[in-house]
Amino acid sequence: MFGGTELAALRAIVGDDGILQGASVERAYDCDAYTVDRSSPTAIALPSTTEQVSQLVQWCNSRNVAFTARGAGTGLSGGAMPALGGLVISTKRLNQILVIDIAGWRLLAQAGVVNAHVSRAVAAHGLHFAPDPSSQSVSTIGGNIAENSGGPHTLKYGVTAPHVLGCKLVLPNGEIVSIDRHEDSPDLLSLVIGAEGLLGIVTEAWLRLTPVPERVETVLISFSTIRDATETVAAIIGAGILPAALELMDRRILDAVRQAFGLEFPEATQSMLLVECDGDPVECKREIEQVFELAKAPIEARLAQSEEQRASFWMARKKGIGAMGRLAPTIVTHDGVIPPSKLPEMLEFVYEVAEQHQVGVANLFHAGDGNLHPCFYFDDREPGAVERVVNAGEAIMRRCIELGGSLTGEHGIGIEKLDMMPLMFSEADLEMQGWVRDAFNPTNLCNPCKVIPNQKGCIEHRRRWRGAAT
Ligand SMILES: Cc1cc2nc3c(=O)[nH]c(=O)nc-3n(C[C@H](O)[C@H](O)[C@H](O)COP(=O)(O)OP(=O)(O)OC[C@H]3O[C@@H](n4cnc5c(N)ncnc54)[C@H](O)[C@@H]3O)c2cc1C
Repeated sequence: MFGGTELAALRAIVGDDGILQGASVERAYDCDAYTVDRSSPTAIALPSTTEQVSQLVQWCNSRNVAFTARGAGTGLSGGAMPALGGLVISTKRLNQILVIDIAGWRLLAQAGVVNAHVSRAVAAHGLHFAPDPSSQSVSTIGGNIAENSGGPHTLKYGVTAPHVLGCKLVLPNGEIVSIDRHEDSPDLLSLVIGAEGLLGIVTEAWLRLTPVPERVETVLISFSTIRDATETVAAIIGAGILPAALELMDRRILDAVRQAFGLEFPEATQSMLLVECDGDPVECKREIEQVFELAKAPIEARLAQSEEQRASFWMARKKGIGAMGRLAPTIVTHDGVIPPSKLPEMLEFVYEVAEQHQVGVANLFHAGDGNLHPCFYFDDREPGAVERVVNAGEAIMRRCIELGGSLTGEHGIGIEKLDMMPLMFSEADLEMQGWVRDAFNPTNLCNPCKVIPNQKGCIEHRRRWRGAAT
């Protein structure tokens, strides 16, 4: 707990109602959506301007207090969890869209603006913000930038990075800088996007807007085996078709969505693909026809006949993880990448690993770009359950790397995959990443113990996570 003098100094920056402290607040902010690793903050600050963020960061530096930025807390790798306590700087009140430039197809938003609110603000002008994480109804622009988030439409439109034109950043020493893309200077924006909040706190960002496609066709295809669905994905990509979205859901997810939201599908269904093509109407129709032809032994294929039906198809995909809450009290959603051609063998491996480690697993993921999300469901109060889930996750990540993939497609490293970084990076690679972090964040007060392994002062925390110390 901060004492009276410290609280008075913080309240002088953000106002009396801008600092939260106490047992219930500490509990509410001790993790993000990766709930197996927790650490309580000392206090929460709710700034509403860049200058306030800067003053808070300067105060933390003067007291040697760690600080961690937090958007909506939907991160799935523990990024917003305050590993060493200290101040959580929430962007909840940085929630204004400051400039809408329709002619320039761009918009300036504060970091706490919710992703979906950006598209909503410009929908009447036929524009949208293309990055669409499935958490988009709550996750923030600052969180999306920090994680370089993807989403179902990443396959065609890319992750967050190409849709950010510049940002205002409070450096870890409290200085305020503006970073833009300039062809003739180093691309610092690319360092900040995806840095998981280690290089400073983004307070504003210029976002690139994209025209809403002229035509969208969405089809939901049911298969009686998961292999038929994964082979269909490989066939679509192999045929050179680039759908806007190509998402796979397995039977366990479908059962959860059926229970929660009444989704209907044939009883023999073991997996479903959601395929969306968009763009020029003639091209779009041609692509969807090819998708129908390439589907391997489908038992049903439904083309959305209205915007309402399209939304109901997407509901199955976007609410899938939420619906998993019906299966067990704890969920850990992993995030690995493999070449799409390896999907059939990889999915079989995922089910085998889950069985070996006696943990439930369901799968819904961005199949087109080979971005897996094995979703483990379990009860973390059961002795040994967390350890089994962590070990199963590690086995899956190892296999992703062996197959030429990567540790994360979009959820980041955070604290969850810290110990797995050496699977993918050499000592020299990690040392170089440390230099970049140190150039921005030499005191390591800004979001410590994340992404780069073996940080000073972080060992104890990692032991606790592993359950090796009490
Ligand atoms: C149901 C569900 C579905 C999801 N689907 C997807 C998906 O499809 N694609 C995807 O990529 N992710 C997905 N996610 C993960 C998550 O929603 C994204 O990572 C999202 O971008 C996090 O945003 P947030 O505002 O919740 O950030 P938080 O969780 O609050 O923070 C995430 C990280 O960003 C840092 N951060 C936050 N704000 C700032 C800032 N202003 N400046 C600097 N650093 C900052 C934090 O310190 C932390 O390290 C999903 C999560 C859930 C729960």
